[in-house]
Amino acid sequence: MKIVLFDIDGTLMHTEGFSKDAYFSALSETFEVDFNPGNIPWGWLTDKGIAEFGLRQLGISQATIDAKLPDAFELLGHKWATQATVDDLIVYPDAVWLVEELAQSGDHELAVLTANCQQGAEHKTRLSGLSRFFEFLVTGSHISERDHLPEVAFQNALTSFGRPFQGSDFIVIGDTPADVSCAKKWGMQAVAVATGRYSAEQLRETPADLVLDALAPSDELENLLFA
Ligand SMILES: [Mg+2]
Repeated sequence: MKIVLFDIDGTLMHTEGFSKDAYFSALSETFEVDFNPGNIPWGWLTDKGIAEFGLRQLGISQATIDAKLPDAFELLGHKWATQATVDDLIVYPDAVWLVEELAQSGDHELAVLTANCQQGAEHKTRLSGLSRFFEFLVTGSHISERDHLPEVAFQNALTSFGRPFQGSDFIVIGDTPADVSCAKKWGMQAVAVATGRYSAEQLRETPADLVLDALAPSDELENLLFA
């Protein structure tokens, strides 16, 4: 059995409008600042890490960030629950096809590994209709860098399935070099898909096991997933 870890943004769906606005405004309102940092290393940092990156630039102490960040994520969840609709997501049909195909295969368990905080991940998977397919969500509520998220995936898999897993039991599917990096750091396979902010050409410069234009049916994808 393999566990397939799907990234959300740029991999399963496009969400940038509402998602980014709600995140920035939740931080601005909670910390009483104008949260709008430049040069964010999207992909490499999680929602927690991006908040720290931007708030430190505004002179907010780490102690204050630690104390109030859970409130900001709660507010973000409230915004998603009360303001977002299915029209705020563009779910990729190829990704839905792959999720359904793997769920039916019986050889795979599916989960999410995302830089989103827990609330963001829950609402995005709920609104997209995909939440029922995922055994667990690894999110960026408590971890600042994506490279450290797979460590939580090992813990969640142990809890969910009652036995330990190795890196080679996991396949990460994501749209950025950071997704590939986090997978490789923990001995996981990586599929990079050019449906986000990076081109296939850029993703081929990473150590991804497979680079695709989209998650559409292909022999290469089938060979990797069912090897
Ligand atoms: Mg992504």
